[in-house]
Amino acid sequence: MPTTTMDILRDQPLSTWFGVGGRAKRLAKPATLDELRECLRLDPRLRILGDGANLLVRDEGVEELVVSLAQGEFAQVSVADAGAHAIVSAGAGVKLPQLINDCVKQGLAGLEVLGGIPASVGGAAVMNAGGAFGETGAVVHAVHGLLREGDGGTPRTFTKVQCHFGYRHTLLGIDTPRGPAGAVKDFIITRVDFRLKKGDPAALRKRLLEVMEYKKKSQPLAENSAGCVFKNPTLTDELPGIAVAGRTVSAGMLIDKAGCKGMKVGGAEVSSVHGNFITTKPYAKAADVIELIAQVRAKVQATFAVELQTEVVIW
Ligand SMILES: Cc1cc2nc3c(=O)[nH]c(=O)nc-3n(C[C@H](O)[C@H](O)[C@H](O)COP(=O)(O)OP(=O)(O)OC[C@H]3O[C@@H](n4cnc5c(N)ncnc54)[C@H](O)[C@@H]3O)c2cc1C
Repeated sequence: MPTTTMDILRDQPLSTWFGVGGRAKRLAKPATLDELRECLRLDPRLRILGDGANLLVRDEGVEELVVSLAQGEFAQVSVADAGAHAIVSAGAGVKLPQLINDCVKQGLAGLEVLGGIPASVGGAAVMNAGGAFGETGAVVHAVHGLLREGDGGTPRTFTKVQCHFGYRHTLLGIDTPRGPAGAVKDFIITRVDFRLKKGDPAALRKRLLEVMEYKKKSQPLAENSAGCVFKNPTLTDELPGIAVAGRTVSAGMLIDKAGCKGMKVGGAEVSSVHGNFITTKPYAKAADVIELIAQVRAKVQATFAVELQTEVVIW
């Protein structure tokens, strides 16, 4: 077994965009694949922390070993020429906004549609983060990482097709729901290869600014939140005046029409700018957010008979 100097830090705060919630009993910051494998041996149930932009940590904190991949080889990026394209290989801990900027500067197109989405590369891939302009999975070439099973994990690479990118869902990932029989699950992403088209840096910069401008206008970006709390539901029955059965509708619109905007529990509030955002005050507890999520879900269920599923991951 390889030796390492990696420390396991005790009783550490967990940085999330909600800015609420408990601490990690143990936190590891591996810099190499061998160190990550050692983490898996220490706690096969470990949890991976990305940028904390889609995460709510319960006030009680986290029992399992929490692993941050924000350093060492997980924070590195390399670019390989591929004719009209380039393969950009980014460590799971690389910050997506930084990667987008760097790619735009180098005239590499495809990631700029994700402008304004806070995420690590691993977190963006596992959630298939995206929005009105595109999704992460569209430009993924391959995803590398460790399957949880086996002593210290089993290295695997999945092609874009094998990942089955869907709406805020892939067949990869620790807390994501299990897919159909035979689906890949319990996968720790260590690196993502993106296939980006060569383009004009000035045009890409303009597009990036447009995407970010749209986001700034429609979402309360200055406040603490984790982005959209609920996934947009697909209707099983027609909602008269809203949409026919089979259509996917905006969860924010349903929340708004159900009269939830402005609802509050403790320091958590349904944003008046975007109904699918819950914002938090510095004094908020994770329990406030959890209770507000339950109240919004109940109100939408009572008004439209639609059951909202959370997009936010709760630890
Ligand atoms: C202001 C704001 C705006 C947002 N706007 C959008 C938007 O427009 N579109 C959108 O899709 N999302 C949006 N989000 C949500 C968030 O940006 C995305 O869900 C993003 O993909 C989360 O990535 P992360 O690295 O922060 O993951 P985290 O929040 O750290 O983790 C989320 C889940 O991914 C898992 N995970 C993280 N890294 C890995 C890895 N390497 N391997 C395996 N599992 C991993 C975690 O274990 C956890 O289960 C927004 C959030 C905020 C705060």
